[in-house]
Amino acid sequence: MPLISILTQLTQPLVEIFYPRSCLHCGDAVEHSDYQFLCSACSRELFLSNPPSCSTCGYPFFGMLAGPRVCPHCTELDPLFEQGKTLFLAKGPARSIIHALKYQFGFYVLEDVKVMIAKVPSYKAYFDGAILVPVPLHPTKERERGFNQSLVIAKSLKDATMAKDLQNLLVRKVYTQTQTRLSRTARHQNVKNAFALASDAVVIPNQTYILIDDVFTTGSTLNSCAAVLLEAGATQIKVATLGHG
Ligand SMILES: [Zn+2]
Ligand SMILES: [Zn+2]
Repeated sequence: MPLISILTQLTQPLVEIFYPRSCLHCGDAVEHSDYQFLCSACSRELFLSNPPSCSTCGYPFFGMLAGPRVCPHCTELDPLFEQGKTLFLAKGPARSIIHALKYQFGFYVLEDVKVMIAKVPSYKAYFDGAILVPVPLHPTKERERGFNQSLVIAKSLKDATMAKDLQNLLVRKVYTQTQTRLSRTARHQNVKNAFALASDAVVIPNQTYILIDDVFTTGSTLNSCAAVLLEAGATQIKVATLGHG
């Protein structure tokens, strides 16, 4: 059994024993909530990304129906992918969900993520028939963290949607420093040429591939991954994230 499956099975009961129904964002009791790990007050602070939204990154337009289809975050990005979607804005309680998943082995939050996916039909339908390709971590980084969060998210998306398959088509050749403190230009340079095609990868030209990452920030990482798939002959490349940073 893969380590991640074992951890998922272990962490959920432990959480229920030690933190019976407490909200992972505010610590209050979770009662009458649609979620297992967010109380009803915190769940009302979630910004799920229903349409209309930016066609490049999925950032919701909050009622702006007219005008450009690209948000201010994406004006400097020259996307090599056709379209992007995100499930929620990564702030407040949603930020706590990503933090628990990424830094605390909190795979149990994926149960709540599946509830969110069901609330955003356009996000769920986006994956129909697509092959999901997680953004890889460098092997050293994956050893440090213990898992690749993008792979864990991609597995969850495959379960919750009509995605056709999940394939690890990419590898990360370069151990990049953390991107959080870097400028947009520096981020772009940092990930440029960081990725390559996996040695056993087979790319089908007319197949839709959706690159999966935890958070959309500048789009540089996803763009670098898209460049590798394009080079390998893919013609339909999209991206999806859980959160928008
Ligand atoms: Zn709460
Ligand atoms: Zn955008």
